[in-house]
Amino acid sequence: MSDIINIAIDGPAGAGKSTIAKKLAAKTGFIYVDTGAMYRALTLYLMRKNIRPDDVAAIEQVLDDIDITLEYEDGMQIVKLNGENVNDKIRTQEIGLNTSTASKNKCVRTKLLSLQRNIAATNNVIMDGRDIGSFVLPDAKVKIYLTASASKRAYRRWLELKEKGECGDVKQIEKEIIERDEQDMSRENSPLVQAPDAVLVDTSDMNIEQVVDTLYEIYRRAANE
Ligand code: C5P
Repeated sequence: MSDIINIAIDGPAGAGKSTIAKKLAAKTGFIYVDTGAMYRALTLYLMRKNIRPDDVAAIEQVLDDIDITLEYEDGMQIVKLNGENVNDKIRTQEIGLNTSTASKNKCVRTKLLSLQRNIAATNNVIMDGRDIGSFVLPDAKVKIYLTASASKRAYRRWLELKEKGECGDVKQIEKEIIERDEQDMSRENSPLVQAPDAVLVDTSDMNIEQVVDTLYEIYRRAANE
């Protein structure tokens, strides 16, 4: 049996998956794989080419021109789009919504699937996304479904923006979060669902350290089984 351990973290938008996964990665020494960043980078390519995220035929035509790769610097994931580091260009609400639409397409998902599975086959990873425990890594040793109320998630996003010196309307953020969740949960291909063997962690009333400690404990127990 392989000694590789994978931790899958899924959940809705703004549940804190990436913040928590990064901290857990530092604590465990695992590689953090942010799959949302891959979908976002691919969507950035479409937006730059003025291709609508729901134009499946046009997307299929350009998929072979898109090369998404991951690199790591001091434990930080760098997502590259055709060799360009796009980490700082993919975090807008607009890209988030467009990504949710583009990632409904099976061809888009298939393109990124092997990259995700290959990394997890050869490394201990903490991988976050929407379909990691349910589809990408069904045999992951640890599966977490991380969630929080929509209003809490919107408030956290709003705080993040404020810290970056940007302003946002918390009600509008909440509306977009709900819209994105609905789209991610209702799509035909790899919808966001809690895998039957995933542990549900609701972070609405927890701080970051409490969530990290909870997940670390779940991991530790599973690793010792
Ligand atoms: O996690 P993040 O907000 O960066 O994800 C952006 C969008 O990418 C999600 O709303 C979802 O539609 C899509 N996604 C996905 N499957 C994943 C990760 C992200 O469909 N594994």
